[in-house]
Amino acid sequence: MAFTEEHEVRTLAVGDVRDIQDGVNLGRKSNQKISQWSHGKFEQYLTYKAQQVGVAVESIPEDYSTRTCSHCAQVATSPPRGRLYRCRNPECRLLLHRDANGAANICSRAVYGHYSKVQVTRITYRRPIQYRRRSAGDIGHVARRG
Ligand SMILES: [Zn+2]
Repeated sequence: MAFTEEHEVRTLAVGDVRDIQDGVNLGRKSNQKISQWSHGKFEQYLTYKAQQVGVAVESIPEDYSTRTCSHCAQVATSPPRGRLYRCRNPECRLLLHRDANGAANICSRAVYGHYSKVQVTRITYRRPIQYRRRSAGDIGHVARRG
């Protein structure tokens, strides 16, 4: 938990996959395992570890977090297929790792009550995607909203 101390983290916002409505269906058994075992066990462990360093854990419903653009709030008709979130809004065109996009939305909902207020400015502790540039405008932007 050195990270939480270093960055003076007070609360961890955790997406609650039990409320997931992104049209992802892994079958009844897998859904059950994820909703009742994996997430529950993960959150229990996280809460236990967080308590030891005085950090609270808040469970946040994450419906549509993976298909909502964390930059412009446009909701895509389907969840991203690959590892990248690509915003279809021509005014935005955000290109960001799908997990970073979803995490920004969950953090935003925890702090502001709705998505797209928190912008990803930097990704750490994650192996970066090897981007393959197809055209000059292929690599999107990551910006902070004022
Ligand atoms: Zn967008």
